[in-house]
Amino acid sequence: MTTFATPTSFGALQPRDREFFDRELNAFIPPRVFDAHCHLWLEDEVQFRLPGFSGDVDAKEYMRLIDDLHPGRTQGALFLSFATPTNPEGQHRMNEFVGRETASNSIFRGEFFVRPEDDPEWVRQEVRRLKLHGLKCYHTFSQTKPTWEADIPDFLPERLVKVADEEGWVITLHMVKSRAVADPSNIHWIRHYCERYPNMKLILAHSARSFQPAHNLEGLSQLTGLDNLYFDTSANCEPIAHQAIIRIIGHKKLMYGSDLPISHMRGRSLSAADSFLWIYGDTPVWGEKHQQVHPVLIGLEHLRSVKWACWSERLSDAAVEDIFWNNAAGLLGVSSPKP
Ligand SMILES: [Zn+2]
Repeated sequence: MTTFATPTSFGALQPRDREFFDRELNAFIPPRVFDAHCHLWLEDEVQFRLPGFSGDVDAKEYMRLIDDLHPGRTQGALFLSFATPTNPEGQHRMNEFVGRETASNSIFRGEFFVRPEDDPEWVRQEVRRLKLHGLKCYHTFSQTKPTWEADIPDFLPERLVKVADEEGWVITLHMVKSRAVADPSNIHWIRHYCERYPNMKLILAHSARSFQPAHNLEGLSQLTGLDNLYFDTSANCEPIAHQAIIRIIGHKKLMYGSDLPISHMRGRSLSAADSFLWIYGDTPVWGEKHQQVHPVLIGLEHLRSVKWACWSERLSDAAVEDIFWNNAAGLLGVSSPKP
């Protein structure tokens, strides 16, 4: 039987989600989980919302919510700060909040949200003051329109990467452009940043944003041999996206991430044509000809896609434990709790 905490912290968790966990995940997820991509938030500052839940999500609330996905197993997390262009002041309050919550327990690490126009010396001082461990950027702050087609330096300028290199920080990058890592500009900038700034560690979010796995199959071979390049699996529900990283780059560079709050929405990402789409609980696709389909939490679909990737690549239990704990704990310097 599962050990889901009851009553759950999150009203929308349904019996079907628990059945899915028991059937698909309970025997797969290792006893120790490091969540290498997740968000805390102040509800007045960013538009993260969960159905059936209101209020801020601090580290304590995070630990309660994440038990919906891997009960009792989360023993470390990397919190990614966030901001939106419509509320630029929120950047400061969110960074302060993430700094304070990260400091609440030695199992946590945190990233500082940067805007492309931020002064690198100010960023250096702020990240040191808040005792954070790296940078989070986002394409919506790019001057290029639409921002979905921005080049990486449009929202992660080289001068910020240089500071990260000097300070030994990580950077989580959700790249954009329609073909992700199969795009020549993205390949160029990832290689350039990793080669020129070897003390900076670059984490490509969402398994290199390969919601269309064909892009990883096409592009990853041009990103081999970069010691400081990592990947988090977060929110991507396509097994081949993770599998391509395991086979072409190696499983030691892949880290599990929940992407809370995305994990607690219902539905999944879905590859189609040369692109992808998201179907959510309220997208009118679940009434099939023969039956009603009941979507589970995205975080659970995501975990099953990671399981299928590990199975298909014939990974050992030790290698699965690397993806769920050792790779991130090693990268971020979190010591192993007692088993
Ligand atoms: Zn995220």
